[in-house]
Amino acid sequence: MTPLRASQPGPRRRGTLIGVRLLVVEDEERLARALKRGLEAEGFVVDLAADGPAGLEAARYGDYAAVILDIMLPRLSGYRVVQALRAERNWVPVLMLSAKDGEYDQADGLDAGADDYLTKPFSYVVLLARLRALLRRGAPERPAVLAVGDLTLDPASREVARAGVGVSLTAREYSLLEYLMRHHGEALSKIAILDHVWEAGADTDPNVVEVYVGYLRRKIDTPFGRRSVRTVRGVGYRIVDDLAGGTGRTGSAGATEPGRGGSAGAGSATGSGRTGSAGATEADQTGSAGGAGAGRGGSAGAG
Ligand code: CA
Repeated sequence: MTPLRASQPGPRRRGTLIGVRLLVVEDEERLARALKRGLEAEGFVVDLAADGPAGLEAARYGDYAAVILDIMLPRLSGYRVVQALRAERNWVPVLMLSAKDGEYDQADGLDAGADDYLTKPFSYVVLLARLRALLRRGAPERPAVLAVGDLTLDPASREVARAGVGVSLTAREYSLLEYLMRHHGEALSKIAILDHVWEAGADTDPNVVEVYVGYLRRKIDTPFGRRSVRTVRGVGYRIVDDLAGGTGRTGSAGATEPGRGGSAGAGSATGSGRTGSAGATEADQTGSAGGAGAGRGGSAGAG
């Protein structure tokens, strides 16, 4: 369950080329160690995970700049790992490694949400070049910190704060909040929320959304005397800046008379540039995953 953390947070190198954290998920111990050695020599900080579940867990909660992910892994394949991450809207750049080759395998890996693909045996120089490209490309694609009023959510670090005070959420609560915040001001139906936050196709009772909205309110609103997660009668939920007043960003949302619910969906295009572009990135990267809800939000015109 815990990844093999050969390098705990401590030994972060300073002044080296990049000094960023990488996760290597590889079950072949010799290759894993060789990669770790080589990458550390380049100044990266490298953690290892030796099977699928450990890799997924580490990628979820570690703050990695990129993940090098083998496909053939014990217990959970690399495909499934990257799929799970993307389903959770975790956009950490992923470079997949595999002994397999052939266009179908590559297509599978990329469809699953990987950013790049390398076939074993690979040249270390090529790996480094691809990795650097991924890190360069990956950075601007990573969504900026989302903010609705004084509520902030950083998709990169998965940190959530209200008025600067850290709030600890479960993975599901986090996903729910991120979805609401990416569409702040919009009324989101329970079904749309279910599609985005729970496993697609799973036969989940829509009422579970209500339950989780309750959990969320108890963490991000109630303790702060706030009411940002609003119920939109006959529709679902929306998140607003309940301090309203000024900030143009959520301005219109401030006018949340219960009556308006119905038309709210139309608001869509409102998003400030920031959320707008983040949405587009999301659409680009997920491709298929976007499908379900895309219609409603107009989803930033996919691209
Ligand atoms: Ca393997």
